[in-house]
Amino acid sequence: MRTRRIGSALSVGLLLTSALVAGGVAASADHRPRGEEHLAVGYGGAVVSDTPESTEAGLKVLRRGGTAADAAVAVAATLGVTDPYVAGLGGGGFFVYYDARTGRVSTIDGRETTPMAGDETMFIDPETGEPYPFDKAVTSGLSVGVPGMLATWERALDRWGRFDLDDMLEPAIRVAERGFVVDEAFRSQTAGNAERFAQFSSTAELFLPDGRVPEVGSRLRNPDLADTYREIARHGTGAFYRGAIGRDMVDAVRTPPLAPDATIDPPQGLMTMADVKDYRTIDRRPTRSSYRGYDVYGMAPPSSGGITVGESLNILEQFDLSEMERVSALHHYLESSRLGFADRNRYIGDPAYVDVPQRQLLSDRFARQRACQIDPDAAATSPVPPGDPFGPGGCVDTGEATPGGNHGAHTNHLVVSDRWGNVVSYTNTIEQLGGSGIVVPGRGFLLNNELTDFNFAPTQGDAPDPNLAEPGKRPRSSMSPTIVLKHGEPFLAVGSPGGTTIITTVLQILVNRLDFGMNLPEAIAAPRASQRNAPTTLAEPAFLESAGPALEALGHRFSTSSSIGVAAGLEFARHGKVIAVGEPVRRGGTSAGVVHPTR
Ligand code: GLU
Repeated sequence: MRTRRIGSALSVGLLLTSALVAGGVAASADHRPRGEEHLAVGYGGAVVSDTPESTEAGLKVLRRGGTAADAAVAVAATLGVTDPYVAGLGGGGFFVYYDARTGRVSTIDGRETTPMAGDETMFIDPETGEPYPFDKAVTSGLSVGVPGMLATWERALDRWGRFDLDDMLEPAIRVAERGFVVDEAFRSQTAGNAERFAQFSSTAELFLPDGRVPEVGSRLRNPDLADTYREIARHGTGAFYRGAIGRDMVDAVRTPPLAPDATIDPPQGLMTMADVKDYRTIDRRPTRSSYRGYDVYGMAPPSSGGITVGESLNILEQFDLSEMERVSALHHYLESSRLGFADRNRYIGDPAYVDVPQRQLLSDRFARQRACQIDPDAAATSPVPPGDPFGPGGCVDTGEATPGGNHGAHTNHLVVSDRWGNVVSYTNTIEQLGGSGIVVPGRGFLLNNELTDFNFAPTQGDAPDPNLAEPGKRPRSSMSPTIVLKHGEPFLAVGSPGGTTIITTVLQILVNRLDFGMNLPEAIAAPRASQRNAPTTLAEPAFLESAGPALEALGHRFSTSSSIGVAAGLEFARHGKVIAVGEPVRRGGTSAGVVHPTR
């Protein structure tokens, strides 16, 4: 029996989504019933983010005449209140911006840095001589990198904003004072972290009021964070990077506020005030790859997102997916990221410390070499070896295979556009859900555990590992904030959380949209699968139901995850029309809004 082509076949199971899409256009994030919040269509600018409060904060800024950069800062600051386990002052991120005036895409690297006292031995337990267990390193001051979040907001406003930082913090201050209503997603995230949060008195006080996980429908206020934002609004970012907030943060990193009945003995944090004072964002050129007539811009190292998405697309461009049978097209999708991850793990790290062969990895010549490794009838066995980016473009033998570090986690992605046509695609994070678990006492925000994105010990056999800690180094990321242009004009903006699955989620959404004939809401809602050069491919149940057996017949092996990623996207239609798309179901549904909605 012939299998159907992918475009129509993957739409099966999306009828529900399409039904929501049809009825999902409404006036504002506040007034749409749950379940329809994830989609909006209209003009004048748009926002998609994890929570209704943050989306509404961004829309208000856009209505007042703010740019996409202004609104993105207001959204991110508000997420620090309403999505505190994945966002906020204690983290970092990558900000990608399309400037309608110049037609250029630029990026800001706001990744956390390693304290100067850290090096490649920092994750080795001196007592055992072995790497710390991952969880022990996560819940400790040792994993906390110097946060780049606030510096990113300042830089984005300096470059592209019309408003000042104090103004853009206002909506977040109001939400922190007033509180937000706990939903099921937040309650279950808290429950999943309750044991860890209970280890730190400051964290328990904020997120486990009266020692309990807050009920759905209760209101969570964060007056300490409101005060922290006010202090920054009054005194500028110096209050954080050179002042009392930074000092409190360093104290919390070095001497975490352990609860009297704490059961953990976390490894010692290394951060000093000098590390905090030295923090700088970096303006970087984006990665660019052309794919079937579109220009795909992504985040350059230290994120591996732009290169790995770009390389995988280049590999896929060697094949005509839209003409393939469904199973075959999905097989090629999985094999392309399998190869992309082998190269990512071998070659990508912080470019200030590692010579990343970015141009070669993104070249068509290299794509041909890698595409050659795909057997159209059989899945490869992972780990597959990396390719040679300096080698010839044809079929060549590859070297030794080594597994890479694969960290799963959770962050957030937001997208914003404005009336002038500027676009933001911004992924920001504190790494794991709940970061290091340490709330800075009296300050109302969690600290990241971003340094656990480093490999704790070398992973690349005899070859150098590009992602070991060094003083001042930024850990390799998978964050993939993406903007796609067509003929120089914005076509899509998209991104997602999900640790290393971020890369495959963004890749899959692009392939769904550009090759498989799905519209953006379908492309985002479609069931996901993530192959990262691992023996098994992680897949959502709905993906396995529809494609699992046929792919298994080709040799693919699967493990299951109930949910992969939480994507946010914008698509730009003609005459300034924008389609803003969040998740209908994942994370309980996310929140999209436009300034002037239409049907
Ligand atoms: N720390 C992860 C990264 O930079 C992002 C957090 C997440 O996993 O979603 O790749």
